Amino acid sequence: FSEKEAALAAAPSDAPTVFDKIIQKEIPADVVFEDDKVLAFRDISPKAPTHIVIIPKVRDGLTGLSQAEERHCDILGYLMYVAKLVAKQEGLSDGFRIVINDGPSGCQSVYHLHIHLLGGRQMNWPPG
Ligand code: ADP
Repeated sequence: FSEKEAALAAAPSDAPTVFDKIIQKEIPADVVFEDDKVLAFRDISPKAPTHIVIIPKVRDGLTGLSQAEERHCDILGYLMYVAKLVAKQEGLSDGFRIVINDGPSGCQSVYHLHIHLLGGRQMNWPPG
C-alpha cells in the first residue's frame, strides 16, 4: 500500500482512530510534547529525519480541517503555535514544513485532525 492508496481506501469517518488509542496510552508512541490540549509524537513512518504529528487531544468534530467551525479557531491556532515550539525543540533552526492533509484527494488517512511537522532535510516544491 502506498500512502496514496491508503488515503483513498480510508473513507472520511467519525469513527475512533488510532490517535485515540495513542491519547489513551493504549498503544505506545514516542511523545515529544504533551499538555492538557495537545499531543505531539514521532510519525511511525517518517518522511523526513524529523517527522512529528501534532493533534488535539479532544477531536470535537475535527475529523479534518474541512470540518472546522468557528469554535475550533483557538485549538487550530494553538496547534500551529505548538508546531513552532516543537520545531525549536527539535533544533530545526534552518526551517521546516507543516502539512495538513485533508480528505482523499489531500491524502488524509487518519480522520482526527493533525499537523505534520517535517524537517531535517531540504524540502522541494511543489509537493507530490
Ligand atoms: P498519510 O498516511 O497520507 O500521511 P495522514 O495525513 O492522515 O495521511 O497522516 C497520518 C499519519 O499518521 C501518517 O503519517 C502515519 O504514518 C501516521 N501514523 C499512523 N499510525 C501511527 C502510529 N501508531 N504512531 C505514529 N504515527 C502514526
